[in-house]
Amino acid sequence: MSRGRFGIHGGQYIPETLMNAVIELEEAYNRFKADEGFNAELKKLLNEYAGRPSLLYYAEKMTKDLEGPKIYLKREDLNHTGSHKINNVLGQALLAKKMGKTRLIAETGAGQHGVATATAAALMDMDCVIFMGEEDTKRQALNVYRMRLLGAEVIPVKSGTATLKDAVSEAMREWTNRIDDTHYCLGSVMGPHPFPTIVRDFQSVISKEIKEQMYEAEGTLPDAVIACVGGGSNAIGTFYNFIEDKSVRLIGCEAAGRGIDTFETAATINTGKLGIFHGMKSYFCQDKYGQIAPVYSISAGLDYPGIGPEHADLHDTGRAEYVAITDDEAVQAFEYLSRVEGIIPAIESAHAVAYIMKHAKDFSKDQKVVITISGRGDKDCAQIARYRGENIYE
Ligand SMILES: *Cc1c(COP(=O)(O)O)cnc(C)c1O
Repeated sequence: MSRGRFGIHGGQYIPETLMNAVIELEEAYNRFKADEGFNAELKKLLNEYAGRPSLLYYAEKMTKDLEGPKIYLKREDLNHTGSHKINNVLGQALLAKKMGKTRLIAETGAGQHGVATATAAALMDMDCVIFMGEEDTKRQALNVYRMRLLGAEVIPVKSGTATLKDAVSEAMREWTNRIDDTHYCLGSVMGPHPFPTIVRDFQSVISKEIKEQMYEAEGTLPDAVIACVGGGSNAIGTFYNFIEDKSVRLIGCEAAGRGIDTFETAATINTGKLGIFHGMKSYFCQDKYGQIAPVYSISAGLDYPGIGPEHADLHDTGRAEYVAITDDEAVQAFEYLSRVEGIIPAIESAHAVAYIMKHAKDFSKDQKVVITISGRGDKDCAQIARYRGENIYE
């Protein structure tokens, strides 16, 4: 495999002005990922600050109710800041610090990655600037406040559709202008090499722990691992240490929005085509002219028109399966997990829960599946209430 490629996907489709920055990053990463001191420091942060290892919880009531496989939940929602994003952010922030950078910039959609980045910057005494689509700053006002409280500057991005893809573009532009003191802390397994590899490595702690915890609980591998897919970081983190274990099904759940036969969808593998955007070759939702299409999902965290290049390759080779889950199915799963297990999942994670609600009967009772709960759902309550016709702020 050539450098930074996953099959035909990945690569570095970037302006020359950014080349030095990504080369510097790749060299530093290769040096520090083999460095014992770095790894010990990161492990300490993950365990003592972020709260790892996260629980692997046997969802007994849900298992009984659905009459399918034994269901385990990987509880990334219990991490500090409430999602899996912190795993990657602590890794990149520590790396940036070792590289002598004093300033972190990041994009954010719903605000989870922005909050995680602002948190790490506060902890490590770094300046922090977050780019966020202006539309998203309105939809996620609470997270804008949290980022500012943590000491970050939040810049509303007005270009394009003023959402996540525009925030990524703006953060890349800013990095091009200022690479001396600044690290771009990218939030998912996307963008130019080496980001898809770096973010995957930092998130692979999820599947490393699942494997150990499943052996502890069941003495065996799971039959399937299931995760939601936006850019794909919690999913690749969930899949990575099982890729070589061919008996383990890898199932990614994309956001179908109002349906993959409508224009209001964000299901990249199911509706997208090969293209080049944000520095990588992969699958993207495109219009008939090949322009990036506006995407839609009830979930701001899955509302991205592309998918990480490693997922695109896992799809091409047939190693992983990618299914589309609609808004309606995700909202039902959000309510179901809350009532049955007393766990309010992020609406993103609810897409993965919905899969097993639909497909429990495809598994036998002696099989075991693990669903990654990528984040907690407090942030989504107002919106889901509105979806059901209630306004909780009235
Ligand atoms: C950001 C986010 C996602 C989507 O991002 P991936 O890179 O696909 O994991 C999913 N769930 C939660 C809770 C998020 O915050």
